[in-house]
Amino acid sequence: MNLFHQNSDAERMLERDREWLLPVYARFPIVMERGEGVYLFDTSGNRYLDMMAGLGVNALGHAHPRMVRATADQARMLVHLSPQYCTPYAGELAERLCALSGMEGVFYSTGGSEAVEGAIKVARAYAAEAFGPHKHRIVSLLGSYHGRTLGSLAVTGQTKYRDNFGPDLPGVDFVVRDDLASLQAAVSDETCCILIETVLGEGGVYEVSPEFLAEARRLADKHHALLVLDEIQCGLGRTGDWFAFPRIGVKPDVLILGKPLGGGIPLSALLVTGPLFHALGLGKHGSTLGGSPMACRLGLEFLSVVEDEGLLARVTDTGAYLRTHLDGLARELDIAMEARGIGLIQGLELSIPGRPIAESALEQGLMLNFVQGNVMRFLPSFLLERQHVDTAMEIIRPLLHKANREAKAEQPELVAR
Ligand SMILES: *Cc1c(COP(=O)(O)O)cnc(C)c1O
Repeated sequence: MNLFHQNSDAERMLERDREWLLPVYARFPIVMERGEGVYLFDTSGNRYLDMMAGLGVNALGHAHPRMVRATADQARMLVHLSPQYCTPYAGELAERLCALSGMEGVFYSTGGSEAVEGAIKVARAYAAEAFGPHKHRIVSLLGSYHGRTLGSLAVTGQTKYRDNFGPDLPGVDFVVRDDLASLQAAVSDETCCILIETVLGEGGVYEVSPEFLAEARRLADKHHALLVLDEIQCGLGRTGDWFAFPRIGVKPDVLILGKPLGGGIPLSALLVTGPLFHALGLGKHGSTLGGSPMACRLGLEFLSVVEDEGLLARVTDTGAYLRTHLDGLARELDIAMEARGIGLIQGLELSIPGRPIAESALEQGLMLNFVQGNVMRFLPSFLLERQHVDTAMEIIRPLLHKANREAKAEQPELVAR
């Protein structure tokens, strides 16, 4: 790789990471130092346009002045204390999240996986209390992603992530996304919840169809099971609405949020409807670092900035503009199969591996992200503007055209259609 030149300090840091950090991530040989809006800067002074926003966390870009001010102010007041004590922000954020979503109670934790674990516990506890422990089965989607802890992994519909970590948490039934018959066959009176990632992100950017979600709601009601929606990635504004589910007209019993919620400070939340308020009783669950004053204050500031700067409308506009370009690429190129997504969660599926494309883009100052090896996934900051899309396309289009020529030269039959 001939990446942007990294100075000798950076080379040393990269070497130290390779020596001391477990090799879990396919990392790029760059040392990032700071960010500003939709741009990142490495320690060698190179600038990168950020189209992945820390895997969807940095919805307000980097170093947003209001987030910086709130962080500094809160750091002087109170960063963390035991969740046994009340602080001014946890309740206010819970009230705001419930007003936005129509839910009626909140439990905070630190990461998405942890919130998924909590949601599973809510569903199992509620069902066990009302119907007995036999009602413990969980229906989840093939191709979904819910996290890496053992419980969230067990409900993630991709076997490759579970290999060698077994035995899996028992009682999980996987169904095919948008296949009503598959869903109907899986849901029974033993089902405690149907768990759905409203827009599958890591799985390749697929929106679940309104018909499928409506059927999940109907089956959940019929069998006294809960409908749990994981909007960790697609929620909190990324679709151009606060959440993905209202547009579809289906209301969950449990809603899981994470990623951008704490403005970059670890914060996730599970939101429940009124009847579930007491499902996790006193002493039944906990999270030492969950819902800290710092994280909740930043969560409130994040919601306020999105409102004050009209960012939902911008997500819709920039997302549609990006999508037009992606649709164009899918038409122009044999290696580009399809563009999918909504708002600023967009994907372009390629028939070739994405890693070399991501590396070449990085050399030109553009941070791209691929999921499933071949789906270019865009999860940029809500601050992204059309001009940034133009800049990204000036790099992406020639790269993909070159890859297209090479693929056709190598394997004409593969790309022919
Ligand atoms: C990222 C993600 C998770 C896991 O969140 P972590 O913070 O990585 O634990 C769960 N569900 C969805 C839909 C996600 O995108």
